[in-house]
Amino acid sequence: MPGSGGYRDRSVLIHGKFRSEKWDFQDHILPPITTATSFRLRSAERGAEAFAQFANPDIDRNTASPIYIYERLDEPCSGLLEESLAFAEKGECAVAYATGMAAIAAAIGIHVTAGTELIHHPAIYGCTHSHLHRWMTRFGVESKAVNLRDSEELAAAINAKTRVIFFETPSNPTMELVDIAAVVEAVKAANEGRCDEEKIRVVVDNTFASPFGQRPLEMGVDFVVHSLTKHIGGFGATMGGVVIGPRSAETDLLLYRKDFGATLSPDAAWHILTYGLPTLSIRMERQQESAQKIAEFLASDPNIERVVYPGLPTFADRELAAKQMTDIDGDLAPGAMIYFNMAGDDQAAYSQAVKVINHIADGALSITLAVSLGQIRTLIEHPSSMTHAALSPEDQKLAGIDPGGIRLSIGLEDHRDLIKDLHSALESLK
Ligand SMILES: *Cc1c(COP(=O)(O)O)cnc(C)c1O
Repeated sequence: MPGSGGYRDRSVLIHGKFRSEKWDFQDHILPPITTATSFRLRSAERGAEAFAQFANPDIDRNTASPIYIYERLDEPCSGLLEESLAFAEKGECAVAYATGMAAIAAAIGIHVTAGTELIHHPAIYGCTHSHLHRWMTRFGVESKAVNLRDSEELAAAINAKTRVIFFETPSNPTMELVDIAAVVEAVKAANEGRCDEEKIRVVVDNTFASPFGQRPLEMGVDFVVHSLTKHIGGFGATMGGVVIGPRSAETDLLLYRKDFGATLSPDAAWHILTYGLPTLSIRMERQQESAQKIAEFLASDPNIERVVYPGLPTFADRELAAKQMTDIDGDLAPGAMIYFNMAGDDQAAYSQAVKVINHIADGALSITLAVSLGQIRTLIEHPSSMTHAALSPEDQKLAGIDPGGIRLSIGLEDHRDLIKDLHSALESLK
């Protein structure tokens, strides 16, 4: 954040700003928390000033002292969190929402109107897919799945109606990468000669890598969205979402939040500020260390057809991973997510996956059958029938989701215990 004085991200994210216009907490070691839904305006003039200043593009929220009105519009705890999140992603501004889905809806919603189009990579979060194809179509916004790993395919898919390119990298759950710089390059070319309103914006869901392991804005992307519920929150105790992007979009992001009402609660913001962000790097470092060992263990098991983890020598996009999945020191950050597919034809692989998952659900201490990811507890799930069940079998195939595919989110347990539980589940197949 401006004024971080050359300190490293790890340290800055523990302390936040000492002095913020959002709230004077120089004397609190932890940020304070508020439970007031409305704020005293003190005089008619000050009240009028507050309304005139809210979501006003001429007011710089980073330096102006806000006059708070009503919690749905803006409040200090999420303001403090937004400062830290903008810093972590190296963005100009951040606006927080109640959930990751609310943030995704806002990042897309502020750029589309009836008759415009969105392009997304086939493998995206199930609810994002549903948001686009079930609901946005009703408002006249069409979305098409295009393989963004192929620049020519992308260039051919872009037309005069395109407004947003949306993708995840690594994508959920397949861990497939999209070359961020290549997409940015293709969109730059397509944007030439377009007026500002018709420009195509690149939106990246950076939930899987987290700002610890990838900062797409530095690579020319326009917007980053996060589910704060995952790595950034880290403990599985609170939900949240954020959009980080250019200052020019801040007004619309704030107005969208005000009018659709998906405001982050101060309590959730406080948890993420107090527990999530300060421990992000230490959690990620430890979790990816374990993930590497677990990926290697799984890769050696004959019951498994394929393990996808950016830290494995067999990972298809190793070069690309080294280029864009890096921590703040520039080292490869392969992350804490592993995808693997059981061996056999679709039906056999599916039944093996069910057996492995049920064995773990029945008896494993260190691994829990649950959706979500990025928690201190290791979670296992079956994307095809759970998180990505909203995708038709054809769309699943297109997205590379196998019937026998299993997703693991590695937590903070001792890696030897995780291997013990996985080993026991794989042994049970014999
Ligand atoms: C969980 C998740 C979301 C949605 O976030 P919520 O906080 O659950 O609304 C979006 N994208 C990805 C990649 C996710 O993992």
